[in-house]
Amino acid sequence: MKLTVHGCRGSVPTPSPYTAKYGSHTTCFELRFNGYQIIFDTGSGFQNLILADSTVEKLILYSHFHHDHIQGLPFNADLFDHDHSITFSSALASGYHLRQTLKSYFSKEYFPIDMVSKLSHVLFADISLLKAWAKPDFHLEWIALEHPGGCFGYRISHGQKMFCYLCDNEFHDTQLDAIMDFIKGADMVIWDGMFTGQELADKTGWGHSSIEQGIVVFNNSDISAMIITHHAPLRLDHMLDNLQSLLPEGVQFAKDQLSVLI
Ligand SMILES: [Zn+2]
Ligand SMILES: [Zn+2]
Repeated sequence: MKLTVHGCRGSVPTPSPYTAKYGSHTTCFELRFNGYQIIFDTGSGFQNLILADSTVEKLILYSHFHHDHIQGLPFNADLFDHDHSITFSSALASGYHLRQTLKSYFSKEYFPIDMVSKLSHVLFADISLLKAWAKPDFHLEWIALEHPGGCFGYRISHGQKMFCYLCDNEFHDTQLDAIMDFIKGADMVIWDGMFTGQELADKTGWGHSSIEQGIVVFNNSDISAMIITHHAPLRLDHMLDNLQSLLPEGVQFAKDQLSVLI
């Protein structure tokens, strides 16, 4: 499996010389393996993603529909190439409601064109259909996360490899067993570490976790690697550099255009 980070910023794109190292694009992750291209969320980083050719099965999985997870969708020119058949799905909504949600966000009050009408080649699928669609080399599971309006995390297994995407989650001790069970044996876990532990004290109900909570989960699990993402908009490069000393081996901060083999 190859993972590429296209957007690691939380809430809003933050272009500036002070965020150039880790990146300014909102959430978008890409996983490639054995004829599959799985895209997690379409924040502003989605505009830089190259959709694979027609021999590759392409799937966009939405964790939820906050603007920083969908805002990049119309800015990827490949998406409007009708040779690119592609499936959109989310555990948070039926295929119908996913389509309706994107249609209302990208409609004339907020956006110049009715974008979804240009996507007749896109299949908006109920996630239960993807279970049936799953092949021996592709297994998809999901888990409800703690986030205003709801959010889901995903687990993709392929052969001996396992990848977990847990973005936009306010971690509570009550989730501990379920999360530990979900990520057990994972080769890579994406973790929402928008806040530091100190900041988190004032951010109850915002729907995000801390860097330190990610480290505790990593240290108490058998997972091989973790990428901490959804960096707060005010988290400048030098602050992330200073926080590096907290990270145990196997844990790193997400960076736009970072690619890792899993
Ligand atoms: Zn977010
Ligand atoms: Zn959110």
